[in-house]
Amino acid sequence: MKTIVIGAGASGLVAAIAAANAGSSVTVIEHNKQVGKKILITGNGRCNITNEAMEENKFYGDSSFIKKVLEAYSPDDIRSFFENIGICTVSKNGYIYPSSMQAQTVCEFLREYAMKLGVKIKTNNNINSIQQINGKYVVDIGIPLECDNLILAT
Ligand SMILES: Cc1cc2nc3c(=O)[nH]c(=O)nc-3n(C[C@H](O)[C@H](O)[C@H](O)COP(=O)(O)OP(=O)(O)OC[C@H]3O[C@@H](n4cnc5c(N)ncnc54)[C@H](O)[C@@H]3O)c2cc1C
Repeated sequence: MKTIVIGAGASGLVAAIAAANAGSSVTVIEHNKQVGKKILITGNGRCNITNEAMEENKFYGDSSFIKKVLEAYSPDDIRSFFENIGICTVSKNGYIYPSSMQAQTVCEFLREYAMKLGVKIKTNNNINSIQQINGKYVVDIGIPLECDNLILAT
């Protein structure tokens, strides 16, 4: 099973890790020169990866949807995910950060863990077109790349 993820931000890198862990052969396509550029500015450069208190009434929007998301993936699950990829976390007044207090750590560990799982990361690549042909997706980045699953994380 081949998976292509478009976008190597936090969502794309975590999706790539999840797909690779599920046994897929994964390629991530990013049009920037580097992955996770936005991660670097999060939490004032420290990356607030989650919070101890994450109730649905703290979010705007459809609270029943938020409730389902939080039940499916709790702050403890998020901390475990990051600790499994090698990032120790600390709580400062209920805000959870990497213990390095550096967003760069989050970015580098996500990239390196994905690569350790065999995820191919293609930076500096633009998508010309995406087509669905015979049940497969064909993503044209100058050369056609075929996959079974396509994740848009842009
Ligand atoms: C100042 C600031 C501080 C923040 N602080 C926090 C915080 O502390 N904690 C927190 O949880 N959240 C924080 N956020 C929010 C957080 O940054 C975002 O929710 C998160 O980074 C979104 O990740 P993403 O992967 O969905 O999107 P993005 O990070 O935007 O990633 C999308 C990626 O897709 C790429 N892309 C787009 N179009 C294409 C294309 N056509 N082809 C190829 N690649 C493409 C982009 O270059 C990018 O790399 C903060 C946001 C800001 C602006």
